[in-house]
Amino acid sequence: MPDSAKNDNIYQPRPARIDRVIRESSQIKTFVVRFAEPAVQEAFTYRPGQFLMVSVPGCGEAPISIASSPTRPEEIHLAIRRAGQLTAALHLLGPGAAIGLRGPYGRPFPVEDLAGRPLLFVAGGIGLAPLRSVILYTLDQGKAYGPRTILYGSRLPSDIAFRQDLAAWQEDAATTCLVTVDQAEAGWDGPVGVVTTLFDRISIDPEATVALVCGPPLMIRFVLAELARRGLPAERIYTTLERHMKCGVGVCRHCHLDGRLVCADGPVFSLAELADLTTF
Ligand SMILES: Cc1cc2nc3c(=O)[nH]c(=O)nc-3n(C[C@H](O)[C@H](O)[C@H](O)COP(=O)(O)OP(=O)(O)OC[C@H]3O[C@@H](n4cnc5c(N)ncnc54)[C@H](O)[C@@H]3O)c2cc1C
Repeated sequence: MPDSAKNDNIYQPRPARIDRVIRESSQIKTFVVRFAEPAVQEAFTYRPGQFLMVSVPGCGEAPISIASSPTRPEEIHLAIRRAGQLTAALHLLGPGAAIGLRGPYGRPFPVEDLAGRPLLFVAGGIGLAPLRSVILYTLDQGKAYGPRTILYGSRLPSDIAFRQDLAAWQEDAATTCLVTVDQAEAGWDGPVGVVTTLFDRISIDPEATVALVCGPPLMIRFVLAELARRGLPAERIYTTLERHMKCGVGVCRHCHLDGRLVCADGPVFSLAELADLTTF
C-alpha cells in the first residue's frame, strides 16, 4: 500500500482542505476533502473499512472512517456525526477550510473474499459510513459482486443519513435496500421498528451469505445474535469495533481490547475473531 499520506513522523498530519460539505441529517455532515499537496492526493489510496486520523488545528484529532470508495479516487468522503469538541469544530467548517489528515490506517474489510457471494449489509446511523465504502466498491466492480441486501436503521426519519445513496441503491436492480426508523414522524410511510425487524422481510442463504455490520454497540449486539439465529457462521460475519484511540497505529495501546488493538488489528473483525471477548 503506498504510504504517500504518511510522513516520516507518523504523528504529523498532512495538510488538507475541505472541498465541499453535504448535510446528511441534523447531526451528520459529509465532508469531501483532499490533501493540499497534489502529489499526495494523487498517490493516496486506501481500502474499504480503513480510517483516517482527522485533525482540526488547535482542537485535536479523531479516527474517522473513509466513506468513499477507492474505485472513485477523485474524492475522499468523511461522514462525521457531531459528538464532542472536535466534531463540533469540524461541523463549523466550510469549503476551503484547512484540516489535517494522516493515514489510511486499520485493517480493511476483506473485499476479495466477498466476490461472488450474496452480501448482507446491516447498518445503524453513522455506521453506514464504512459500509458505504464497501457497497460503492462492490457496485463499481460490476458483476463480480452481488446480489446485495442493505438494511439501514435510523432513530427518526429526520436522522436518516446518506439519503441520496439509499435512494440510488433502491433503484439498483441487483440490490435490495430497506430502511426502517425506531419512531415515525409525520410523512413517514416506511417500516417502523429497530433494524432487526427488517430481517423478516428478506431471505438469507446461510450457506453462502457474508454479512457486514456497523452501528452503535447495542445494535451490533442484536444484529449479530439475529444473524447467528439465522444460521450464519461467525466466520462470515464482519463487524467494526469502536474504541477511543490516540495514535491510530498500534503504539499507544489506548484502544486495547482483550489482547487486541482496535486501531491496528481492526477496526474490522470477523465475529469468529471476537468469540473470546469478555467486554463486547
Ligand atoms: C475506527 C473508527 C472509525 C470511526 N469513524 C467515524 C466516522 O466515520 N464518523 C464519525 O462521526 N465518527 C467516527 N468514529 C467515532 C469518532 O472518532 C468519535 O466520535 C470521536 O471521539 C469524536 O470526537 P469528539 O472530540 O468530537 O468527541 P469526544 O469529545 O471525543 O466524544 C464525544 C462523546 O462520544 C463518546 N465517544 C467518543 N469516541 C468514542 C468511541 N470511539 N466509542 C464510543 N464512544 C465514543 C465520548 O465518550 C463522548 O460521550 C470512529 C471511531 C473509530 C474508532
